[in-house]
Amino acid sequence: MSTGLVAPCKRSATAREIGGVKCRPLPISVTPVPDELLSGWLSRLAASNHCEVADLLNHIGIGGKHAAALDHDINMLAADRISVAARIDPAFVLSMTFAAMQEAEMRLTAQVPFQTCPNCADGGLELRHWRRAWAFDCQMCGDRLLPKADKQKGAVVSEKLVNRARNGARVLERVAMSGSARELRRAMRAVTFAMGLNALRGDPFFALQSPRSNIRLFCLAAVVSAQSRPLVKAALCSMDIDVYSRVALLRAYDKEPRLLATVDQIAQRMRLRVGGSATSSHI
Ligand SMILES: [Zn+2]
Repeated sequence: MSTGLVAPCKRSATAREIGGVKCRPLPISVTPVPDELLSGWLSRLAASNHCEVADLLNHIGIGGKHAAALDHDINMLAADRISVAARIDPAFVLSMTFAAMQEAEMRLTAQVPFQTCPNCADGGLELRHWRRAWAFDCQMCGDRLLPKADKQKGAVVSEKLVNRARNGARVLERVAMSGSARELRRAMRAVTFAMGLNALRGDPFFALQSPRSNIRLFCLAAVVSAQSRPLVKAALCSMDIDVYSRVALLRAYDKEPRLLATVDQIAQRMRLRVGGSATSSHI
């Protein structure tokens, strides 16, 4: 582990009673790196003190909790106990979690690690932004984040797809931060459509966090394609209609029949214009 990841903390080493539990500072403190995730930092803290995370949490007096659960649900009592044991500010403990997110941000933030940075993950380091569905490049070193299971070499994918997915990730971040339900619907409709075209089932939010590189990249690329004239693009896709395209359309516009009707009308007009099978009635 790099020496930069284990450094003495400055706060008082005095024991304190918190909620009826006597909390004592640990022999070794570990200074969190910027944007570090609480559970990853607790693992590093435990390793530096030569114990397991579960033992560490027991020692602190929050043994009933799993470290990963604290990332999304932590109370002030637990934050205070951790802060005394590790000699850091309780507000800093809270800043390492995902507490209090808006719905869009929450649904686009993974509960479990799905990607990592091969350069920075040594020593158990885990950064908060790696959990975001829109995180594409590591903010610490700049390298592309890779699926957890794939961190040694990365799957072979085309550069064009990677670039489109990176652009889609930027759009997704803007949508998540805006809190706009309409923008989020548009982005997720594009993902659902892309999934349908690839005969993929399941929740589109999970597809964006897929450990399978191609699925995640394809879904992110679909987000950027939906930013301009998405209905015309859907109609173009449906020109060469097959079962998958139709099912994809139905899934993507499931809750918006008026939009689906518009896609059908555009496709019909296009078909008339090119003199193809204009009388076809299935789209
Ligand atoms: Zn990195």
